[in-house]
Formats: sequence, structure tokens, C-alpha cells
Amino acid sequence: MTTVGILGGGQLARMMVLAGAPLGLRFVVFDPAADACAGPLAPLQVGAFDDMDALARFAVGVDVVTFDFENVPAASARWLAERRPVFPNPDALAVAQDRLSEKALFQSLDIPLPPFADIRSRDELAAKAAEFGMPCILKTRRLGYDGKGQFRIRDEADIDAAWQALGAQVEKTGLILEGFVAFDRELSVVAVRGRDGEFRAWPLTGNWHVEGVLSASLAPAAVAPAQQDAAIGYARRVAERLDYVGVFALELFCRGEELLANEMAPRVHNSGHWTGDGAETSQFENHLRAVLGLPLGATHALGHACMLNWIGRMPDAAAVLAEPAGHWHDYGKQPREGRKVGHANLRADDAQALAAALERVGVALDRQAQVDPVVHALRR
Ligand code: AMP
Repeated sequence: MTTVGILGGGQLARMMVLAGAPLGLRFVVFDPAADACAGPLAPLQVGAFDDMDALARFAVGVDVVTFDFENVPAASARWLAERRPVFPNPDALAVAQDRLSEKALFQSLDIPLPPFADIRSRDELAAKAAEFGMPCILKTRRLGYDGKGQFRIRDEADIDAAWQALGAQVEKTGLILEGFVAFDRELSVVAVRGRDGEFRAWPLTGNWHVEGVLSASLAPAAVAPAQQDAAIGYARRVAERLDYVGVFALELFCRGEELLANEMAPRVHNSGHWTGDGAETSQFENHLRAVLGLPLGATHALGHACMLNWIGRMPDAAAVLAEPAGHWHDYGKQPREGRKVGHANLRADDAQALAAALERVGVALDRQAQVDPVVHALRR
């Protein structure tokens, strides 16, 4: 019996546990919070990610270690890697934890990306903002997620406010300034690489964000084959350079024909949740297969799928469950503003049927604003 240890016990861990049960896997989940939402599904060890005594106890009970949370200190991941196989490897995790090293990696692999600069002072910020042009975005290098730790600088008058908001982070997390991309749309590549180097990607996913948080995903995204090949090629380059094992996501901005890399997430990703009901093999199952050295499953889509994120509180499930291929995922979390508490996956054999299902759900749940951009993309 193989036991997988997961650092972080959120919804990603929860969905990995669900995907691992048919494979006969056991899990131990490690999280600082006693109410981590994977806890009801697998033994939960409560501890801090830098508590080596707690990590030592965790390591003893598991055969392999992986992550639901990318900001586990790289030092802890390295320490664990001396005791147990850890996938993805701690060096890959360290790169993905830092926007600056991530962007330097993209650059070294000839992957196009917006202009960026490491920012150490207010004067540097002012100079680089003038060079890139405004708007531009100041972000923390580390520990930012879902649009947190970001300040959009619209014009010169915002420089002081941006510095006031994030300047104190220079020593703690570092800061990076990025040119603003007036993208037509956002895409992500969700891909997996096995221990033997086998690489597979799911069809490209189109994503819509609201205030920096993913709201909806649609797959397969309607993209020209050349663009799909380019995007997947970028993901493959990243995975091979990092000797990456497991699932990861590469987020891209699409501006006309251009694809610009935004960031990578070294774990199963929210924009891959549709694969749970809309692909031959889900990202969760393939991640487990990868870290265990098992053959990877096929990644093709089963028709068209849309994922709707539920933020703050769960809506009523009935409208989604009434759909012929409507699937409900409740993470069992307490409602809280801004918190990802669940999602729905809707699937259909053709784009028009999916658009119709989304419209019905949008009306029933009073979520037209959330479904409309997806319906529009399907009807184009
Ligand atoms: P991030 O945390 O970097 O993924 O940013 C969250 C969201 O903010 C992205 O998905 C975009 O919608 C937006 N965003 C971030 N960086 C940029 C950028 N350089 N230009 C335009 N929009 C951005």
C-alpha cells in the first residue's frame, strides 16, 4: 500500500485524495490549519511548514511527498527530499515561488513575456514605470496569489501610492514591476511530466478572472493549431529545463497572435479543474500517476467543458445537477468573502449545447455576469 504525503491540505489536496482512491492510494495531508478541507477525507497532520520535528514525523509515514501549496519553504522541501522522494523537485518549486526567477527562466528559454524588472527602491520604480509605460503592475516577487500583493499603476500619480502599499515588502518578499498587457484573453496550459520524462498537455484552457481571481474556464479554448502548439511547446521547455515531475500550469496572455507568459504554478491548478469531468484523465489522477512513476493517462477532452468557480459561498446545487452533464464540487469549507469554496463543471458534446447549459445555469443562479463571457466565446 503506497501512502502519498501532501504538503497543504486545501481543495487541491482534497481532489487529489478523491482521485487517488481508485488507485488504491493512501494519503497523509500536512497543513497548518486544523480545519483544512482535505482533513475529512484523509489523515491530517497539523503543523507549520517550517517545523522540522513535525515534518520528520510526516516523512516517516509516507512513501512520496507532493504539494497542494506552492509556498512551502524551499528549505523544508529540500530537507524532506533528503528523506523521501519529493515531486516536483525542490529546485523547481523554488523557481516557481519567485516571480523574478520564473521570468528569468522564461527568458532563458526564449518564451515571450512582458517587460519586467526587479525593484529595490521608489526611484527604481519610478524609472522603470516610465520606461515600460503606464499602466504597469507592481507585484510582490513571492507569496502573492489570486491578485493579492499587486498594485496597478495607472499613471505617475500612482507611484507613491504603489510604493506606500508594497514598498515595505522589498526585504521580505522582493518586488517586481511588469509591463501591463492589454490582452484579448487569458489562456493556460495544464501539463504533466512523468518521472521517465514523458510529457502530456491537456487542450488549452481559456480563463476569465474577476479582480485577479479565476472566475471561469473553458476547454478546449478555440485557438489556432499553431498557437496551441507554441503554448504547449513553451510548457514542455519549462518542464524539461526544471526536470519537473507532476502537473503544472503555465498561464499565458494572448494578444492577437502573440502569446506572453505570465507565470507558472507548480501544482495542479484551478484552470485544470474542468479535467475532473471533461477529460479522459483528470489533472489530479495524472499528477498522482506522475509522482508515483506510473504510466500517464490520455489528456484529450471529452467534448467541451466549462468550470465555474464558486467564491465566498456555495450557490444552490440543483440547477447544475439538473443538467445532463453538470457536476458539483463542494470543498466543504466555511463561507468567507473571497474564499474559493467550490466549483461546478458543465460538459457537452458540442459548443452550442454547452452554451445553452451555461445560460440556463446562469439564469437559475443569477450568475449571468459569470457565464456570459464563456457563452460569448462559445457562440463566436
Ligand atoms: P497573477 O497573480 O500574476 O496571475 O495575476 C492575476 C491576474 O491579474 C491575471 O490573471 C491577469 O488577469 C491580471 N494581470 C496580472 N499581471 C498582468 C499584466 N502584466 N498585465 C495585465 N494583466 C495582468
